[in-house]
This record gives sequence, C-alpha cells and structure tokens, in this order.
Amino acid sequence: MTYEKVLADVPVRLRIGDGWREAAGGRTFPVTNPADGAELLAVADASPADAVAALDAAVAAQAGWAATAPRERAEILRRAYEEIHHRRDELAALITLEMGKPLADAYAEIDYGADFFRWFAEEAVRIDGGYKVSPNGRGRILVMRQPVGPSLLVTPWNFPLAMATRKIGPALAAGCTVVVKPAEQTPLTTLALATILEYCGVPSGVVNVVTTSDPAGAVGALLSDGRLRKLSFTGSTEVGRLLLAQAAGTVLRTSMELGGNAPFLVFDDADLDAAVDGAILAKLRNMGEACTAANRFYVQRGVADAFAERLAARMADMRVAPGLEDGSQIGPLIDEAGRAKVGALVDDAVGKGARVLTGGAPLGGAGYFYPPTVLADVPGDAALLAEEIFGPVAPVLPFDTDEEAIGLANATEYGLVAYVYTRDLARALRTAEALETGMIGLNQGVVSNAAAPFGGVKQSGLGREGGPTGIDEYLETKYLAIEL
Ligand code: ADP
Repeated sequence: MTYEKVLADVPVRLRIGDGWREAAGGRTFPVTNPADGAELLAVADASPADAVAALDAAVAAQAGWAATAPRERAEILRRAYEEIHHRRDELAALITLEMGKPLADAYAEIDYGADFFRWFAEEAVRIDGGYKVSPNGRGRILVMRQPVGPSLLVTPWNFPLAMATRKIGPALAAGCTVVVKPAEQTPLTTLALATILEYCGVPSGVVNVVTTSDPAGAVGALLSDGRLRKLSFTGSTEVGRLLLAQAAGTVLRTSMELGGNAPFLVFDDADLDAAVDGAILAKLRNMGEACTAANRFYVQRGVADAFAERLAARMADMRVAPGLEDGSQIGPLIDEAGRAKVGALVDDAVGKGARVLTGGAPLGGAGYFYPPTVLADVPGDAALLAEEIFGPVAPVLPFDTDEEAIGLANATEYGLVAYVYTRDLARALRTAEALETGMIGLNQGVVSNAAAPFGGVKQSGLGREGGPTGIDEYLETKYLAIEL
C-alpha cells in the first residue's frame, strides 16, 4: 500500500443519493497535510444548494430506511464494523495524512471508531417500547419508539473517523437517514467511510456526505429547512451556541458535544506513577487536540513538585515527528491557527509568571509542530486555565484541601470530563459526586468507550453519545392512549 494509492482511492466528490457528484460549478477546496502544509487532494466544495440536494436525498430515503427490519440495519452496521477493520491500514494512513496524529493514534481511533458500529448494530435490535395499565385501571398506555427523521451530522477534525461513526452508527440503527458534514480540514476519512457504507449495503440516500469550505452556508441552509428533524454536532462551544440558536428556528432535536476544560486532580494518597501515566494519556493523546484532554492539573501540595517534575521528564522524552514517521508520538497540530493559539496561551501564562519545565515554544521548520510543554507556578489568571488549550501543554497548580480542589475544578463554564487520582474510595466517590462534569476518569486517563454514555453538562453540551442511551438521541417517543 502506498500513500499515493490511498489518496487516489478517495472519492473527492459529494455523496448524494445513489451517486457521487461534483459541487455546483465544479468548485473544489484543498485539503492539506499538517505535517508539511502540502496539498493532499482537492475535494468538492458544496454550495448551500448542494447541501439541500443532499437533504432531498435523505428525505426521499427516510420512509424506506425506517421500514427496514432492525436486524437488516444491524447487519449492515456489523458488516461496516468489519470492513473498517479490514481496511484499517488505508484508513489509518488517511487519518494521519489529513489530521496529523501519529499512526499509532490513528489505529487506536480506528478501533474506537469502528466500535460504534458494532455497538449500535447490537442496539438496533433492542429498541423497545412499553405497555402499561393507566392508574384508573381502564386505560392502557402503549409507547412506541420511532426514528426522529433526516438528521444532519456535523463533525470536527480531531477524530475524523470516530466522530462520524459515533453519529452515523446510532442514526442508522434507529432508522434515520443522514447528511454528514465533515470538518473542512479532514473530509477524506469521511468520504472513505461513505464508500465502506455503500459497499456494506447501505441503500441510496441513507448516508449523504457534503464537503464544503463554507460550513455556515451549507449548515445554515439545512437548519432552516423544515424537513430536517435533527442536528448532532461535535465542535466548539462557540459554534455550538450559534447552531443551537439556529436550531430554535425549526425546533430541531439537538445533540451537542461541545468544548471541555477538563481538570485532572491528583490527591496526595494517589499512586503517583499511575497518575503520571494517566496524565500522559489524558494530555497527549491526539496531541492534546481532544475535548476530553486534561486542560488543568491540580495536584495536592505535598506531591505537586514531584508530579510536575516526573510529568515534565516524561513529556520531554516524547518523540515529536510527522505522524507517518516510525516512532512518532506527537504529530503536528492541525493548522497554523491552532498552533498560534497554543503559543499565545503559553506566552500569556509565562508572561504572568509561569515557569516552563519543558517545551514552551513552537518548533521551526515545516508543519505545525508544538512540543510537549509543562508549566509550573501558573497564576490563577492565566488564560489557559479558562480556555480549551487544544495542544500538548500541561499547566500544573497546587491545592491544599479537597474542597479547594473541587471548587477549582468546577470554576468553569465547561463540564465535559474530569480525571481523579486517589486510592481512597470514599474520597473518590465524594469528589465524583461533587464534580460538575458528565464523565469522570477515576484513576484512568481515558474515558472514551462506545459502550458508555459520552457527553457533558453545563456549556459542554446536550445529550449523550454511545452507551445504552446513545440511540435515544435519534428516536422519538409516541404514545397511544387506549380505553378498554
Ligand atoms: P474547531 O474550532 O475545533 O475547528 P468548530 O466548532 O469550528 O471546531 O468546527 C466543528 C464543525 O463545525 C466543523 O465541521 C466545522 O466545519 C463546523 N462549523 C464551523 N463553523 C460553523 C458555522 N458557523 N456554522 C455551521 N458549522 C460550522
């Protein structure tokens, strides 16, 4: 397998209905490799009218897809799960080429992403309803679940495969047709995924893919179209707010996976080696470009220096290199804007008195590389404590009491995930109950799992993806009142 061949196999057009077509006027936009800034491919640049054509196809296919046997939908998803694994080398290369992460991380994403198809294949045949005697004894209450309808799935660039499968899996399992709009930085993996779904028997019009350099135009056209019934979005809180406001216009069902500002709490009774291992995962998986990335490390004063030093030693040792290079552990950031933001946040903290233990400045040369960075003595007003860093930068701050740690952890508008390291079970449970997040990693640095409900509270989002409730996001509840 060569990378040229992988790229040559990507259909660079729009997937609409039963075929692949050019965008209006034959317009295209470039997709570049963040490891060197070079253009990989030009893909179709959909206009708002192209997006509406995709919705036309989804609407036309909706009734037929909703009427398929759940087992049939399940088996298509199961086949797609297997086919993703079968094509894992080609998919991993595509993910790394367009997104930058090391190949090892791309393979990990494939396992994680494919799992959503396996999980929702299993859930498709377990959609249930209810039958109950009404309190007066005469009535009967019959509850059925039906697909919500044509759904728009807007995905980010940081997990080009998994963010698509996490939405397509439950939507298809529930009987919804979809229009997928991948991020403009990483459309190639989604296009490859569409070929897999086609190959595995997804009928025409059930999965449509619209690539565009004008997300506001394409998404806006669909959100204002009354035939769309659902929006599932993963991305920044800023864009999420905009889309929620637009979704109000047509009273859309919404699932929103937005930004995070994850606290990583290390108590003085923690296994410090395990905490450092977990910190490496929670911080450096995907170069820190994850909404679940640990953003703030609060460490109890007695162990704070030891933790920061050990973390810095480990992070300084990581190999920063293009993701396709052997042994790469840290790839480039997604683009110059992403790297500039990380640089500005570090400079702000250092300007306010933070001490650099390792890293601290962008790397020269081609590509958007920023080295793993640990900052100690970070002042409370540093911007990176309030904002999502989205890069390999770990600010470490000491705390004294459990109450103080919990207060600091909760002092944010975000509430996606928190990480807690302690060997004291009561302390762990007390802390977990008090943390205002949708997920908590207890003595572990990764929480993502297709079998678990992923999602946040506060301004980190609405709804849950994965787990036993993930399919509910794509189902309506209809109730029949029956008087005997
Ligand atoms: P990030 O800041 O991580 O790039 P964004 O929230 O900007 O995250 O992007 C997530 C997804 O939202 C992408 O698919 C992007 O194309 C899309 N998007 C960005 N801006 C808008 C917008 N104004 N309207 C609709 N979709 C948007």
